[in-house]
Amino acid sequence: MTDYKNFTVETDSDGIALVTWDSPGRSMNVFTEEVMNELEAIIEAVAGDEAIKGAVITSGKDSFSGGADLTMLQKMLGLFAEEKQKNPDAAIKMLFDGAGRMSWLWRKLETSGKPWVSAINGTCMGGAFELSLACHGRVAADSDKVRMALPEVKVGIFPGAGGTQRVPRLTDPQQALQMLTTGQTLTPKKAKQMGLIHEIAAPDQLIETAKKMIRDGLKPVQPWDEKGFKLPGGPVYSAAGANLWPPAIAILRRETYGNYPAATAILKCAYEGLLVPFDTALRIEQRYFTEIMQTTEAKMMIRSLFVSLQELNKGARRPGGIAPTKFSKVGVLGAGFMGAGIAFVTAKAGIPVVLIDRDQEAADKGKAHSEKLMDGLIKKGRATAEDKEKLLSLITATPDYGKLDGADLVVEAVFEDSEVKKGVTEKSEAVMPEGSTFASNTSTIPISSLATNSKRPEQFIGIHFFSPVDKMMLVEIIMGEKTGDKALAVAIDYVRAIKKTPIVVNDTRGFYVNRCVLRYMSEAFKMLIEGVPAPMIENAAKMAGMPVGPLALTDETAIDLAQKIMKQTIRDLGEEAVDLKQFELINTMVDTHGRLGRKNGKGFYDYPEKPAKKHLWPGLKDLYEQQDPDKLDVTELKQRFLVTIALEAARVMEEGIVTDPREADVGSILAFGFAPYTGGALSYIDGMGAKAFVELAERLGAKYGKEFDVPALLKDMAAKGESFYQRFDPYAGEKQAA
Ligand code: NAD
Repeated sequence: MTDYKNFTVETDSDGIALVTWDSPGRSMNVFTEEVMNELEAIIEAVAGDEAIKGAVITSGKDSFSGGADLTMLQKMLGLFAEEKQKNPDAAIKMLFDGAGRMSWLWRKLETSGKPWVSAINGTCMGGAFELSLACHGRVAADSDKVRMALPEVKVGIFPGAGGTQRVPRLTDPQQALQMLTTGQTLTPKKAKQMGLIHEIAAPDQLIETAKKMIRDGLKPVQPWDEKGFKLPGGPVYSAAGANLWPPAIAILRRETYGNYPAATAILKCAYEGLLVPFDTALRIEQRYFTEIMQTTEAKMMIRSLFVSLQELNKGARRPGGIAPTKFSKVGVLGAGFMGAGIAFVTAKAGIPVVLIDRDQEAADKGKAHSEKLMDGLIKKGRATAEDKEKLLSLITATPDYGKLDGADLVVEAVFEDSEVKKGVTEKSEAVMPEGSTFASNTSTIPISSLATNSKRPEQFIGIHFFSPVDKMMLVEIIMGEKTGDKALAVAIDYVRAIKKTPIVVNDTRGFYVNRCVLRYMSEAFKMLIEGVPAPMIENAAKMAGMPVGPLALTDETAIDLAQKIMKQTIRDLGEEAVDLKQFELINTMVDTHGRLGRKNGKGFYDYPEKPAKKHLWPGLKDLYEQQDPDKLDVTELKQRFLVTIALEAARVMEEGIVTDPREADVGSILAFGFAPYTGGALSYIDGMGAKAFVELAERLGAKYGKEFDVPALLKDMAAKGESFYQRFDPYAGEKQAA
């Protein structure tokens, strides 16, 4: 057979071709135009060669494949937008053909007349799992490395290469819809139980098991191409179907509030596709896919949740010319709530940690947190006793600062008190090697002011975690006035090492994330004061796409913390810096009713003993005269939340606190779940256009106050018809270089 760049093909004495996918220069196989062309040639060659009985496809890498290269899709959408200006019909045709390219190639494989078996040796995602589903046999290795999913819905599209058709023809429709609309990840066991794979084999028997299927006479015909094929869940128009489809629509609506067009399209594809023969079904899927690719949601989600996220994770903001840091030791000061979590995630990345507190007992208590988290993972089958032992052996809990000797980085998480922080900075710097980096996890004290405690402010930086540290994927890196490039590089290397996403933020009160979160909570307080019933506040926020209602979120972070922040703001900036009505509300909650939040079981919600669920505190109704819910405009309530946060994000860009729109967008989704379908706080503005956004904000401002004042930056962008990604083009440097 011909030489391929991405595949090797070896035919054994039984006439079985082993097609091994191993794209050069990549850590993971992904579908590119070249890969597709080569695969097409291979499918044709296998079909046309009488000496070949069948083919096994596998990967030469650790993983099978990550699926399609979405940057390719992004480029195609760019070309489409350009062509649409000139020739809309030709543009749509191009998009439609592009949308079907993979789908019809997989169809060609499954109708080629030769049996194909997919031997899944590692992660197998998206288009690669759809390729596997088109194979007549599927075997997965019995390994933790093997995970299968059709996760497209998470980036605003859906499995458009037959996924919406083959899955509900292989498994019962309820499980199929659940898997497709959530992008659920499957273990080999689960995939087999669902009927999506045929066999699970020991890793070293994988290829042999796959070949044996062919030797044993695997039929090169899929069940749905056989005469008399019956759907696993019965016909759509049947009693079973009547029990399934209407509730499925309701469940999807409950989960997504109709914010995700791709999820809705999956349901339509499956429903309509199951009524017709397979080729027609694929064409239905292709049509919906063409439609979904043109949605704002797809464009924004692909950009933020795939492209930008990947770029930031790879260290897009890391200054060049500085050697990567290999961490031999990291110090963590303060073994409290945050410090204990930071020690855990650091040790989990295999880095030795010195965890320091005021005395041995406090330090040990911090280390015990890691033990508890590992026990939880073991219980869920995600770690072994050996992993736990190894992780704990990496953490040295001690009150002795001398142990910081040789640390590349020290992260401080002691009390939020400048004097305490000064003391520990001095003690650490006395021991830390020259050239090492000191980072503070402060949430409210400016980094530049803390850096005055340091002998080497250029090596002083903020590394701001969110709680719970082990779950939250975002970390803000805060640049003080004097912070140097080396400290930034070390901080980014560290955040990457612990597998979190870094965003770089300049020093300001509240940094980026907390400024936005405060706006979200504050808008809810305003609504309460206006007499909007609390359930409507929480539900409107969720309908807008926020994962947690603002009152529930305030309870999580504690209402007395909100009170402390307001008091501090008044001390620092004067009474006019806070809304006194909101201050009164918070004071009433804390001082009059003793409602501090989840931590004392009483906040905006009541927290009864499990298994009872939390519910809004009935007393909220008595605080303010209640408006008639039927007279409230829910759309406007939803807009108020998203607009107030987006405006704050725009102000942050205007002030130069965040400089790269990718960071503002990704940060807003990872840190507080800003309506992911929008692509993030700035993409929300870009998605509707600056002009429309300014009009909306001004309309809300006329009714709801100065929080909706539009920054000059946005007015200027509206006048010029600019987007954030044009005004603050993150790729400007690269374009210039090219
Ligand atoms: P915490 O009170 O739970 O922990 C602070 C720890 O520091 C305690 O264990 C205390 O014994 C220890 N400590 C105090 N003085 C010390 C000293 N001189 N030497 C060594 N250890 C000392 O507080 P926390 O919530 O973990 O917050 C720690 C830092 O993280 C603060 O700066 C806070 O602003 C910041 N932060 C907190 C959160 C959060 O959600 N709690 C989020 C982001 C950042």
